[in-house]
Amino acid sequence: MSQASGPALGLQKHYIGGEFCASESGATFEAINPATETLTALAASGEAADIDKAVKAAKAAFDDGVWSRAKPSFRRQVLFRAADLIEARSAEIIALQTLEMGGPIGPDFGGRPHPVMERSAWNLRFFAQEQEQAGNHSFNRDDSLLTYTMSDAAGVFGLITPWNGPIMLSTWKMAPCLAYGNSAVHKPSEMSPLSIRILCEIFEEAGMPSGVYNMVLGYGQDAGIPLVEHPDVIGVSFTGSPATAKDIAARSAAQLKRTSFELGGKSANIIFADADLSKAVPAAAASIFMNAGQACIAGSRILVQEEIYASFLEQFESVAAGWTPGDPQDRSTRLGPLVSKRQYDRVMNYLALAREEGKILFGGGRPPMREKGYFVEPTAIIDVAPSARVCQEEIFGPVATILPFTDRDDALRIANDTQYGLAGYIWTTSQETAHFMSHRLEAGMIWINSGFDRDLRQPFGGMKLSGLGREGGGLSREFFTETRFASFPLTPRSEGVGGH
Ligand code: NAD
Repeated sequence: MSQASGPALGLQKHYIGGEFCASESGATFEAINPATETLTALAASGEAADIDKAVKAAKAAFDDGVWSRAKPSFRRQVLFRAADLIEARSAEIIALQTLEMGGPIGPDFGGRPHPVMERSAWNLRFFAQEQEQAGNHSFNRDDSLLTYTMSDAAGVFGLITPWNGPIMLSTWKMAPCLAYGNSAVHKPSEMSPLSIRILCEIFEEAGMPSGVYNMVLGYGQDAGIPLVEHPDVIGVSFTGSPATAKDIAARSAAQLKRTSFELGGKSANIIFADADLSKAVPAAAASIFMNAGQACIAGSRILVQEEIYASFLEQFESVAAGWTPGDPQDRSTRLGPLVSKRQYDRVMNYLALAREEGKILFGGGRPPMREKGYFVEPTAIIDVAPSARVCQEEIFGPVATILPFTDRDDALRIANDTQYGLAGYIWTTSQETAHFMSHRLEAGMIWINSGFDRDLRQPFGGMKLSGLGREGGGLSREFFTETRFASFPLTPRSEGVGGH
């Protein structure tokens, strides 16, 4: 397919009040395949009028009570059905994600759904169960007063998501939002306008009442801002960059809206001399090269204890050679292109800067065999100061800086010297060192001798510029419900006003 032959897929539409529809204005934008730089589809470009239509549909569904006051078991059934359908349509979803953002389709998983789709389905199942099992508290000190808390659905939420894990990150937000009975207006990233259609179809087929989940495609400036500012949207759950979060925070503050922010990172991957390098080296490579480095929790700053620094560099380079950039449609490819020309130019600018601030150990450019597509070689930067921009700023590409450290205090000094605080990785065989480090490392999520595994009850989120608020388990319930109390005297009270 070439640009001249027109897009292969039809118009990608919004999903509002249970209907797929074009923008009120008819505006569209282009979806480009990052592996081939060709046009895949035109997508409806949402604006304030489309957001208003979606919020009205969401509010009508919420006020109707068909979902917000439905039995928790009904919501569980619908979300479980949706989870089954995500797994059943896994290959289709992954194929569209590959077209929109270049993520490799991955190996054949032997008839099982793609692991990322299993996780997306689990997001729905987990919160479907959580909302059914969560109870309210009652506090009854004596026989004269019954008092209890209520955590009810709160209203219409705006959900704003990035492109680097389109369905997984979207389900992570929509699962708690919808499970607790709220309605949602979701604005996915303009970089990933294809795969989300399947999720809309899935919710419909699973029996979710119309208007509960609505989705508006479009740019942040055109559709994101009106969503944040809409007076009937009571809160915004956002995953994306700190710069956008600051804008959303300022606009939300004007209406005292609740916000939850899951943001970027520049996470330290700290490897001590006593670590098992046969595990630490491939894990370090996966942490920064997976998804072409476009992962918020990527271990982009590798810190290695000086005794093993030289040996680590040698082993890391040899493992990185297995991450050859390739066609994301090929089952053997592990490293696909970056999402867009903009992201490609951004990473290339950082690579030019790396040559001034330090030295490129390997990689550092466009792979020789790839004439088209936004491909970047896996890259390691060394001989660079911890304060250098390439060590401080989120590059969001397959680019690691590798720095030596002397002891654990030195490791902590370097690791914590950043404005970010999302994830941290510690590789050591000493439990004492692991424990010491995990308490002192300024990061919201810490993996010891591992990476990525997580129980969904744990708090997900970051410190400093990496986020505000935590999501997961009961913390998502707190954000997505209105917690109140009711107090009910059983016998006449004598102590008067303000008894406690
Ligand atoms: P981004 O902030 O540019 O965009 C994210 C979303 O916000 C998109 O849907 C975009 O259209 C929308 N948006 C942009 N401006 C807006 C505005 N003013 N008001 C409302 N909405 C607006 O981020 P991105 O480039 O899409 O994603 C990459 C960033 O996301 C990286 O920093 C990455 O680390 C972060 N991220 C964080 C997590 C996490 O869970 N912590 C997960 C994935 C990605």
